[in-house]
Amino acid sequence: MRIDSATQTGVTVSNLLGRPHCPQCGETLFAATATEFLGRGRLVNTWSCDACDHVFQTMVKVPGPRR
Ligand SMILES: [Zn+2]
Repeated sequence: MRIDSATQTGVTVSNLLGRPHCPQCGETLFAATATEFLGRGRLVNTWSCDACDHVFQTMVKVPGPRR
């Protein structure tokens, strides 16, 4: 499955398994600390940077089936 885009303030994730970089220090993060399902194909991942402890979120939109 391909996810077209996910954006959050200053962060872009190219796909669901993409690993964002910390907007504070640039460290590559490996796993979200939490994932919240908002419905309608929207997921929010919460990330915590191991290097600087900065916490941020990314939103992923999963395209639904075409009708
Ligand atoms: Zn960081």
